[in-house]
Amino acid sequence: AMSFDLVTIPCLSDNYAFLLRDQTSGKVALIDVPEAAPIAAKLDELGWTLTEIWLTHHHPDHIQGVPALIADHPARVIGAKADAERLPPLDAAYDDGQSFTFGAHTVDVIDVSGHTVGHIAFHVPAAKCVFTADSLMALGCGRLFEGTPAQMWDSLQKLAALPGNTTICSGHEYTATNAKFALTVDPDNPALISRAKDIDSARAKGQPTVPSPLSLELETNPFLRPGDPAIRATLGMPDATDTEVFTEIRRRKDQF
Ligand code: ZN
Ligand code: FE
Repeated sequence: AMSFDLVTIPCLSDNYAFLLRDQTSGKVALIDVPEAAPIAAKLDELGWTLTEIWLTHHHPDHIQGVPALIADHPARVIGAKADAERLPPLDAAYDDGQSFTFGAHTVDVIDVSGHTVGHIAFHVPAAKCVFTADSLMALGCGRLFEGTPAQMWDSLQKLAALPGNTTICSGHEYTATNAKFALTVDPDNPALISRAKDIDSARAKGQPTVPSPLSLELETNPFLRPGDPAIRATLGMPDATDTEVFTEIRRRKDQF
């Protein structure tokens, strides 16, 4: 069987970076670089040699650690061709729908614009994980700084179509607040009520709530559920389109 190691690294106040190691080739990818120090410390602790960095989007809390990190841990930097001017210098750049190799494995690049235009996700089918940063998040989705609600909804639908056993590796620890909001639009969802309790107990112990399985997001994340009759009833939008319901959920979250 093909095996990977996935390590979550807390950075800054509420960001996550991830290390993905392919045990066969020994290649090590870092997804996003909020700051260099905790990532360098984790690499040293594990004795891993960084080989590549995959950047999801141009916001400083996802890229600002690149220069300091690669000074001591040289690595190929990979990002979106469409957003290359706003990213650190890239060694390879890809468009939506393109793939590249990681060891003997394929990495699929998916445009997930909405939070920013040019935000990408990295799907590694063999590792059953996708790095979504500030697009699909645990019980939430990123705020729309550059894109439209329709764009974000399109992006989330692409992620929702991945296999249910895919691990969603998102960029921030926002889940407790997301749960409080989700319960305002989907108050009677038993899976959500139970997940909200799990989140509170994890946070009380200082444990991360990221990553999370796509199957759980599909059951509980209101931003993936605009077609749900109970959510539509709560919002008073029984006959609206999914895009209209999604837009209303996002609007309410912005004011929550
Ligand atoms: Zn961001
Ligand atoms: Fe962010």
